[in-house]
Amino acid sequence: MAGPVKTEAVVLRSMRYGEADRILNVYTPMRGKLSAIAKGVRRSKSRFGGRLEPFFRLNLELHEGRSDLMTVTGAETVSAFPVLRADEGALNCAARACDSLGRVFDSGEPHPEVFNLLCSALNLLDQHPEQASDEFQVAFRLKLLLAAGFAPQLGSCATCGEAEQIIGFSPAAGGVVCNACEAGSFAFDSETHQFMTAALGRSLAQTPQADGRVIALADRAISETAAHHGQVRLKAIA
Ligand SMILES: [Zn+2]
Repeated sequence: MAGPVKTEAVVLRSMRYGEADRILNVYTPMRGKLSAIAKGVRRSKSRFGGRLEPFFRLNLELHEGRSDLMTVTGAETVSAFPVLRADEGALNCAARACDSLGRVFDSGEPHPEVFNLLCSALNLLDQHPEQASDEFQVAFRLKLLLAAGFAPQLGSCATCGEAEQIIGFSPAAGGVVCNACEAGSFAFDSETHQFMTAALGRSLAQTPQADGRVIALADRAISETAAHHGQVRLKAIA
């Protein structure tokens, strides 16, 4: 598979390497997450300018050699998200979203829908930086888990299918559980249940608000589900 590769990409991380180089983690529609080295990028006359920074959406030209690390040979900006970049809250929110995505989708498998989810999250934060919030992180993570195939079951008991008497959340069962199936679950209230259902079902822009207690409980449900079913460790939201 050696040779030139052209792809759209969003920069997830950009790390200094050696005197003047950077190593990038990027997310692409058809090659998933990949790593590439950009040589000489930190020299003032670099032809890449400042565009190999986190959250830039780019058209990348890469050279694929024998190692896992590709080499960046060209980069053109699709979107720089300048408003997001100037807002501390939005930057922080974008960084956490990219971190979550890189953990859940840590391979070269193609997931164009995940690339689109990331781009729509960055677009939203660029157009409405005030949308940056812990609720946004919960909603984004739920959508990542949905794309990965292990979204928590919220509609009825994950063990027996009963829709009434939901009292707990079981990471092992993969969702909410009723009072007859509560073994191995932690207590889960209807406010958190409703918040997660809305955050999963609505668009990111329509993410509902919630208080800190609800967000923490939702975060626990999400992170323990991801750990149990995807062997993924997510950072705590709050
Ligand atoms: Zn049940």
